[in-house]
Amino acid sequence: MIIPKGPRLTPEQLHEVTSIVEEFGCRIQTINGTTRSVYAILGDERSETMRGRIEGLPYIDRIDSIQSPFKLMDVRSDLASHEIRIGGVAVRRQLLVIAGQCTIDPKNPNYFIETAHAVKEAGAHVLRGGVWKPRTNPYSFQGDNRSMEILLEASRQTGLPVNTEVMDEEHLRLAVEAGVHMIQVGTRNALNYSLLRQIGAAIAGRSTIVLLKRSRHMGPIDEFISAAEYIVNFGNPNVMLCPRGTMPTLEGYRSHPDESITPLLKERTWAPVIVDPSHSVGKATYVEACSLAAIAYGADGLCIEAHVNPAKGIGDDPKQSVTPDTLRRIVERARAVWALTRST
Ligand code: PEP
Ligand code: MN
Repeated sequence: MIIPKGPRLTPEQLHEVTSIVEEFGCRIQTINGTTRSVYAILGDERSETMRGRIEGLPYIDRIDSIQSPFKLMDVRSDLASHEIRIGGVAVRRQLLVIAGQCTIDPKNPNYFIETAHAVKEAGAHVLRGGVWKPRTNPYSFQGDNRSMEILLEASRQTGLPVNTEVMDEEHLRLAVEAGVHMIQVGTRNALNYSLLRQIGAAIAGRSTIVLLKRSRHMGPIDEFISAAEYIVNFGNPNVMLCPRGTMPTLEGYRSHPDESITPLLKERTWAPVIVDPSHSVGKATYVEACSLAAIAYGADGLCIEAHVNPAKGIGDDPKQSVTPDTLRRIVERARAVWALTRST
């Protein structure tokens, strides 16, 4: 990783650095953070001659060679000062709340529109709504392209940025073209490296943010962070990690709640951690406790399923969506826990 002395290289400087690395069969990938850019050397970067020539340039501070399987996402990376901003929130400095329905019901668009207004009122900064759904059962409702228009209409009416999950290249294309602000990678695709690469390439040069869920079957923590590295090394560092519970389940819950991995993630990566309590516990009555625990563990935000009338929802909504009143209470209490734990 090449670290310039200033916040970023000028086009001429980048050209000079690029021509050096190309002599050694490598390429440069620019990663644009908010306060600075770093320049990844793609290819075999070990040549001492190449490194010496780059480090000898007057505008280069150093070549960083932190020994990490995820050089960009590592907590010691020069990208660690990168700030993700969405919905008026400077993530990591302020609590981020993403909320909305699991699934948009194209037959009942009004529920989603009402939910959008209600979650905004309750304190959400980003509206979530599933257009396409990864369902365990192939006969369950799989989502509908028409729901994208409902998502966008809710965004227009409320002014909230929106989040939706993509499962393949076609969804990704439609979501990016529609200007979806936050793309979700669900638990089933968290280790789908070709999709992660496609997302990285599709959002490079844009302000799009990715919410990367933890795979239900994900093993070591490094595997989670490395999945984020797959996206970020295309140039857009706006990736947030989302623990959402793992398998096997803790009896009585939908998954094995994993908000407690937050401090372990934070020791190794600068990526914001946004916990999803809804899929962790799988039942509306348990969502509040899991949310508050997540914030106590140091999470930067929450992604909560909410619905104005959960019983009339589809997908996960009848089981695990909280009502707007409950969401408001969770947000208030989460802020209190945040204040308590961040003040020490
Ligand atoms: C969802 O957010 O509705 C969802 C399907 O999430 P996960 O991929 O975590 O199961
Ligand atoms: Mn869901």
